[in-house]
Amino acid sequence: MSAFVLGVDIGTTSTKAVLFDTSGGILAQSNVEYPLLSPVPFAAEQDPDQILRAVMKAVRTSLEKSVEAAGGPAAGEGLLCVAFSAAMHSLIAMDKVGNPLTQCITWADNRSAAWARRLKEELGGHDIYMRTGTPIHPMSPLPKLLWLRDTKPDVFAAAARFISIKEYVLYRLFGRYVVDWSIASASGLFNMAALDWDSGALAVAGIDRSRLSELVPPTFALRGLNAGAAAEMRLSPDTPFIVGANDGALSNLGLAAIAPGVVAVSLGTSGAVRTVTSQPRPDPQERTFCYALTASHWVVGGPVNNGGMVFRWIRDELATAESETARRLGLDPYDVLTKIAERVPAGSEGLIFHPYLAGERAPLWNANARGSFFGLAMHHRKEHMIRAALEGVMFNLYSVLLSVERVTGPAARIEATGGFARSPLWRQMMADVFNREVHIPESHESSCLGAAVLGLYAMERISSIEAVSGMVGSLHRHRPEPEQVRRYAALLPIFLDLPAQLHEQYERIAAAQGELLR
Ligand code: ADP
Repeated sequence: MSAFVLGVDIGTTSTKAVLFDTSGGILAQSNVEYPLLSPVPFAAEQDPDQILRAVMKAVRTSLEKSVEAAGGPAAGEGLLCVAFSAAMHSLIAMDKVGNPLTQCITWADNRSAAWARRLKEELGGHDIYMRTGTPIHPMSPLPKLLWLRDTKPDVFAAAARFISIKEYVLYRLFGRYVVDWSIASASGLFNMAALDWDSGALAVAGIDRSRLSELVPPTFALRGLNAGAAAEMRLSPDTPFIVGANDGALSNLGLAAIAPGVVAVSLGTSGAVRTVTSQPRPDPQERTFCYALTASHWVVGGPVNNGGMVFRWIRDELATAESETARRLGLDPYDVLTKIAERVPAGSEGLIFHPYLAGERAPLWNANARGSFFGLAMHHRKEHMIRAALEGVMFNLYSVLLSVERVTGPAARIEATGGFARSPLWRQMMADVFNREVHIPESHESSCLGAAVLGLYAMERISSIEAVSGMVGSLHRHRPEPEQVRRYAALLPIFLDLPAQLHEQYERIAAAQGELLR
């Protein structure tokens, strides 16, 4: 009988469920969206029950679709397991009877910014980072706990547990609080060397381990799915649920980027650069994160805010007329704008764009950073500005790659994914700016595939997670072109030097607008 595995990724904008066969072929998939709520400034929350419903619907829909498509498992038949990926850094306070006391506070919530700063400056943040691998930043649950204790002491005191969104979903389905090392390692509370909660970080947060979930390896199987939920998802109650890992780590796995020297770059709305090492490797300069995939696979990397959203901003604010014309012609505005950018040589004839429209995490870790054009002259036209914006996003990602390489050694090959890969120009630009060969794998839902591979390993269908390399094909391949490499290399040092010189001015302009984040 054929066997299948369902990879489920609980993301920030939607939950995706993809049904794979045992060689990584896709049988069916579904995607259920939900909103990010911001009822007060700097909040970015979600309703945990809405996400639970989305997970159940995504599971059911993908199974139903596979039955319709035939060849898939009827009513979950042949399904080996369901395996989970989830967004990192979420925090939910739960009362002692298992009801949420807060919404799900996501990585994008910035209300703990002042506590992140205090952690860094007064509370031993550097040492905590070196032990936990999670940058001291408002995205992380550790400063969120300090903020909650300070601003909502009643909620903090009443909370019997502090959990993430994946723990919430699994608790509702199995009645048990468990957390994998991978999600735990992105909480700022997990000691990488000990694979256990970090007593120093817990002391700073003012909690003890009884208020956190039981730690389990990512291959841990939960059994005994509650009958009502099983029926609703069209699953047998015996189906094992593999707890899985975090979405970034599983994306590397799903891209087959888990060997030394292979770097995964994602460039969608935001971006990230990640590679895998066999030991925990924090960065004494705190530019990169280090999160667990398994006990012998650690993901080192940096997240960037300013990815494809910069191009969306160019489309909507700078090139509005061109975008409108494209739409009227039934064309994708992004395709038209990249065609326009192609008319300008690499390096945009000396125009540099700093893409920091949304502050920046890696490599600057400065929420007050601002974007700018530098080097504008009379010969520059709008096409230069469009091209410079695409180049600026790539230069910024490259500077994150440099930080990652300082920690893990040189990168030989890049596996890249995300919406940018629809553009041949932007793909070639990555190869030229990085001066490295760039592959675009076939797999679109890399975190779901990563979860599925972990599931196959947990169910002993493959002997190691490295088996993934036989499951991911290559869609595009780009080699650096020497002339373009030379042009970009001439501008890069200027791009890299400017933020240090502008640091004080970023704070002054933010303060002048009453928007200084401290
Ligand atoms: P998300 O990260 O939200 O899942 P995607 O991975 O689809 O989304 O990335 C969306 C981004 O991809 C857009 O903001 C845009 O910058 C870029 N993009 C989408 N289509 C194209 C295209 N045809 N050419 C170039 N860039 C594109």
